Amino acid sequence: MGRARGPRGLGERRRLGAAARFAALLALALPACGPSGPEAGAGEAAAGEQVVSRLALGTLVSVVVRDPDTARGRAATERAFAEIERLEGLLSEWREQSEISRLNAGAGGPLQPVSADTRDLLVAARRLAEESGGAFDPTTLPLVRLWGFAGGEPRVPSAPEIEAARRLVGWEAIELDASGTKARLAAAGAAIGLGAIGKGFIADRVLAGLRRDGVPAAMVRASGDLAFYGGTADRPWPVGVEDPAHPGEILAELDLLGGGVSTSAPTWRRFEADGRVQHHILDPRTGSPARGARSVTVVAPDATRSDAFSTALFVLGSAAPEFVRAHPGIEAVILLEDGTRWASQGLAVRWREPLP
Ligand code: ADP
Ligand code: MG
Repeated sequence: MGRARGPRGLGERRRLGAAARFAALLALALPACGPSGPEAGAGEAAAGEQVVSRLALGTLVSVVVRDPDTARGRAATERAFAEIERLEGLLSEWREQSEISRLNAGAGGPLQPVSADTRDLLVAARRLAEESGGAFDPTTLPLVRLWGFAGGEPRVPSAPEIEAARRLVGWEAIELDASGTKARLAAAGAAIGLGAIGKGFIADRVLAGLRRDGVPAAMVRASGDLAFYGGTADRPWPVGVEDPAHPGEILAELDLLGGGVSTSAPTWRRFEADGRVQHHILDPRTGSPARGARSVTVVAPDATRSDAFSTALFVLGSAAPEFVRAHPGIEAVILLEDGTRWASQGLAVRWREPLP
């Protein structure tokens, strides 16, 4: 799950202006722009839309509803934020009392009871880890901690430290019993972190609730993860891909009707060491920051999938386009470190000229 990002300056806020053309509905890894209270406001709504944004999941979460019944839309939005809070309490590795933290504390020990929500997420995480060949791995947390991306000062660990932490990584250690009511981490020292899948999963759950409440079209955005439904040819959901070199500027645009869109572009908590940029998306094979990609945006049928695969494709780096071609059901917009721009055939992407 995401965690609070540092306070942001006014400059950052101003640059969000470019994004406002998209009614603030961007697949951007835009930072939470530093609102001081829990209610970050309801600005920038397009006609016929209600937008409510609040701090949750360690970032700024927005719920957008298109509902002519405004009272129904408002009530559904309130329920959506309550559901986010409930799920975060179960799933966040940052909360000591969460089910995930209890599984981590009991790693190597016996099966423990888990809720249906936690089970569903663990099943999805295992499946997507396997599908991605382990490029997305929900047990990368020991490495994330070692590099200092889970709190404290980020640093480059020694090779033996990396090797020791890397041995603790492996999604196969997540075990569920046949009844699906109990789980455990089989390996002592292993730990689950849902930073690369949790926001997408929760966005999907919240969206399902809005649908059940009768809202005709809605979107949930949690930082770089979006889930939406109910767009039409006349009124699709506009999605912008941020230029990683110019935060707040759009590099590619596309219109979508429904599904999930996630961007992985480690633009925060970066630091320079050993002559290169170090960041928080780690390659489980090497134990070090993934190389080759600058920004990966994935379009998928749901946000659980887009979230996990945006991280996986970022890890795959220059091999990502080939992976997308071989996997129907995920589409992507990829910017590589060498400046290459790539979008899969299935997406009608409108590129903009990059700023110098
Ligand atoms: P963001 O956190 O900006 O939404 P991602 O969805 O790509 O970006 O998730 C990155 C987070 O997931 C990291 O901060 C870390 O906690 C965790 N992580 C890092 N590398 C991996 C990986 N290879 N597989 C799964 N999780 C990872
Ligand atoms: Mg992700």
